[in-house]
Amino acid sequence: MELKTCTSCGKELPINEFHKKRKNGEEYRSECKSCVTKHTNEWRVNNIDRERELNRLSAARRRMRLAKNGGKISMKEKRFLLCNCNYKCAYCGAKLSGLNFDHYAPIISGGKTELGNIVPCCTECNRLKGSNDPEVWILEKFDKETLFRIRKVLNLRPLKFYFM
Ligand SMILES: [Zn+2]
Ligand SMILES: [Zn+2]
Repeated sequence: MELKTCTSCGKELPINEFHKKRKNGEEYRSECKSCVTKHTNEWRVNNIDRERELNRLSAARRRMRLAKNGGKISMKEKRFLLCNCNYKCAYCGAKLSGLNFDHYAPIISGGKTELGNIVPCCTECNRLKGSNDPEVWILEKFDKETLFRIRKVLNLRPLKFYFM
């Protein structure tokens, strides 16, 4: 059997240990099959690490912006909002299964974490709304009725006794 030397590991191996450059071609790749696999896996691992690093950085940036924007919302206030919205997304009306909220004025535009800027929101609307101008986005995707309804949600304030 024909032998070929791998340019990566330097081993002399039978030709069937090399991938062909093209499916029906006669030329073989300079690296052996196991070196190709090894390098592909290394590339994957490096890219997962890079992706993780990027996610970590964007989460850190988000936390920094949140801290800079300021504001505070308590669990009771969150529950109050959810209860007043019948546990539904304030935008599309989808039933919410957890404590999902949206910053009405986006975090990136300085939106604070407080009553008046927090609305119950499904993950889909949250993702789609992103950093769009809220009014423009609502009028584009929904209608004036939705905008008026959300303004009411933004103006909701619990009665004093609620906190006692
Ligand atoms: Zn090799
Ligand atoms: Zn929604």
